[in-house]
Amino acid sequence: GPSSIYARPLSDIAVSFEFFPARNPKAAADLQTTVARLVPAGPSFMSVTYGAGGTTRDCSLATVEALLRGFSVPVAAHLTCAGASRAEVDAQARRFYESGVRHIVALRGDGAEPGAPFTPHPDGYRNAAELVAGLTRLAPFEISVAAYPEVHPDALSAEADLDNLKRKLDAGATRALTQFFFTADAFLRFRDRAAAAGITAPIVPGILPVTNFAQTCKFAQACGAEVPGWMAELFAGLDQMPETRQLVAATLAAELCSQLYAGGVREFHFYTLNRADMTAALCHLLGRRAGPVLEQAS
Ligand code: FAD
Repeated sequence: GPSSIYARPLSDIAVSFEFFPARNPKAAADLQTTVARLVPAGPSFMSVTYGAGGTTRDCSLATVEALLRGFSVPVAAHLTCAGASRAEVDAQARRFYESGVRHIVALRGDGAEPGAPFTPHPDGYRNAAELVAGLTRLAPFEISVAAYPEVHPDALSAEADLDNLKRKLDAGATRALTQFFFTADAFLRFRDRAAAAGITAPIVPGILPVTNFAQTCKFAQACGAEVPGWMAELFAGLDQMPETRQLVAATLAAELCSQLYAGGVREFHFYTLNRADMTAALCHLLGRRAGPVLEQAS
């Protein structure tokens, strides 16, 4: 029946891909190759992160512009308000708009010190909801925001976190992309709680295929996602077997997508980590075919 991921109407699934900015010319060329392989899968949009993991704001703009030039897929630029005045954030949003960006993923961002409490810039937007409101006054952007199936670590409660998501949507955002999670139940319960709270905007699961387990644990700890105990068990002993580990990771991610599909999910946002293979395989299983590796035209 339609609840099986492999026997279902064609093209009932929408996908989007997230990339981080290229820091140097080699990374930029590699990213073009990755994106060229993934574009045939027909993403609704591709997004480029902003200022996270030590990349600069100029890197983000350059990467966004390269994707807009190279491919005819809408590009969503992530934009954060951490550590910047409203004027600086607005100027960056205008630069994105002038480059052809019509979709912003509006985020608060985090403090400079990992784990330190977030302090807004004295002249800055204090949170993502304020940023969304600011963006709607600047230009006719489509706006997506972040959501946390397992609750953001700064939230006072799960309910307060959901109220915050509502504020962001009321301010003008039309879609939520979620933090990663590793059990379908975590997402499906959250989706149901959001619906019960009157949220009607699409909530799109963010899928992070685990290629590096230790690194995933670090990310997860920082953002409040739970890494189930069985996952540590599953990846134990695979450090010296990268190919086997990759197959295990792909199987897990495919099962997650399959369970989400069975739960009614039809849109998937992939954290590609700028690699094509895993996301291409998952898209393939979802009936969206990526392309082969092509020689770079010189
Ligand atoms: P907000 O929605 O502002 O919320 C943060 C926390 O504060 C929540 O717990 C919320 O409940 C609470 N809060 C907010 N306002 C109030 C209020 N008025 N009263 C009480 N509580 C309040 N980071 C980057 O640096 N660059 C990126 O490109 C990036 N991309 C991301 C993409 C996705 C899909 C996701 C899920 C996260 C991304 N992040 C990125 C990480 C993000 O910046 C952090 O998770 C950050 O800590 C929170 O951002 P936010 O937009 O969710 O904040």
